[in-house]
Formats: sequence, C-alpha cells, structure tokens
Amino acid sequence: MIPFANQPVVQVLNTDVYQLGEKQVLENINFAIQKGEFVYLIGRTGSGKSSLLKTLYADLSLVKGSVQIAGYELNSIRRKDIPFLRRKLGIVFQDFQLFMDRNIAQNLEFVLKATGWTDSMKMKTRIAEVLIRVGLSGEMNKMPHQLSGGEQQRVVIARALLNDPEILLADEPTGNLDPEVSEDIMRLFLSINKSGMSVLMATHDFDLIRKFPQRMLRCENGKVVERDYL
Ligand code: ATP
Ligand code: MG
Repeated sequence: MIPFANQPVVQVLNTDVYQLGEKQVLENINFAIQKGEFVYLIGRTGSGKSSLLKTLYADLSLVKGSVQIAGYELNSIRRKDIPFLRRKLGIVFQDFQLFMDRNIAQNLEFVLKATGWTDSMKMKTRIAEVLIRVGLSGEMNKMPHQLSGGEQQRVVIARALLNDPEILLADEPTGNLDPEVSEDIMRLFLSINKSGMSVLMATHDFDLIRKFPQRMLRCENGKVVERDYL
C-alpha cells in the first residue's frame, strides 16, 4: 500500500480511543498530520496521550472511527500486517528498552533481522548510517550501560530510523533527561523532521515547547483539540 504523495501521513476521523478493559479515554476525535509536519501532543497526566499513540501504532485496537496512518487503514488492518505498519512508524519511548546485554550495533541488528533484513553488508551499512545520523558513529561497540541517558536515547532514535519510517511517534522522549540533554534530543528530532519525516511527540515539557514552538494538539476532557498557546 503506497500512500499518495499528497495524502496526510495521519488522518483520524470520528475516532474513539479505548484503553484495555473497554475504558473510553478519548471520544470522537479528528485531526490530520501532513507529511513533514512536527506536532506536539500535550495534555495533563491521564488525559490520553499515550493511549492515542498506542492506537496509532495498533497496540490498542480501533473500536470506532477511522484512522489512516502511513498508508494503512487501521479499521481493516489484519494482525499479520501490523509488523509492516510498524516498519513505517518510528516509535520512541521515554524508557529506552535497549537490550542491556548486547552492544549498540547488536541492538540495531536485532531490529533489522526482526524486520526482514538478511544481507549482513547492507545491515552494517544501515547501522552505520543511522548512528551517524544521531551523532553516535563511534559508539557502536559500546554496551548501553556505557552510554549516558541522552546517548541511549539517541540509540533509540537511531533504532526508530532503521526502516526509514514516514513518521516518528515519540512518547515523552525527554522525560528522563535533564534540560540541557533534552534540548539536544529536541534539536535532533527537529533536524530529522527538517529532512522531511513527520514527528508526533507527546510531552509535558513546556520549557522545550516554549523554546521550540511547533503545532500543538492537546488531549483534554476526552477530546483532542488544536491549541496555539500553552
Ligand atoms: P501521562 O502524561 O501521565 O503519560 P497520558 O496522557 O499518556 O498520561 P494515558 O496513559 O493515555 O494518559 O492514560 C489515559 C487513561 O487511560 C487514564 O485514565 C489511565 O488510567 C488509563 N490507562 C492507561 N494505561 C492503561 C492500561 N494499561 N489499562 C487500563 N487503563 C489504562
Ligand atoms: Mg503517557
């Protein structure tokens, strides 16, 4: 399924978001994200940011509405297609979820193999490319514990870039980092975005938003609304 060039990367229509156990979190939401857009997702704790992101990457199932993302319609997506959808999405969490007993190159190689890569030269090249992209070209033989929190988050971003996704979905990617390191990570997201990749980033970090203003969507009272102020 190849999306048309002018189609939004994400289109959410009349959609409800449900957590596990049928708890409704968001109701009748509507928004679109265009190719190359950078969008913050804000809102109080418990307002539904993570639940919305999980719905977008098909971790929570779509109960009502229509979600198109990266060329897939989540209404009709089959379970066996979900791994292919995920290759078109770069997912970045606050907690890094790296394998602590494998070095950086092995962490990235694991994902490539799991997503169908077989040629070891091509894998090596791709790993080098994404590590250069995030400013970590010299660290591929280090173990995760030998890296700082900011560096580990860069590895996670490199991992998200491996399959050249259409959009990065980031859930509080700077939540565990101190302010200076958070700004560096934000600059990295912005430079990736500049090269044409869309980004949807859930964050609580108002200092970051003030410093790097971008379009904002806010979860509030079970809705998602466009906001142009904090
Ligand atoms: P935070 O800013 O704290 O990360 P959030 O905006 O990401 O909050 P969600 O985690 O999406 O909010 O939570 C939305 C609602 O869903 C809350 O009422 C929460 O209690 C509920 N919820 C979250 N995770 C689960 C789960 N695994 N099972 C059931 N309910 C959940
Ligand atoms: Mg959350």
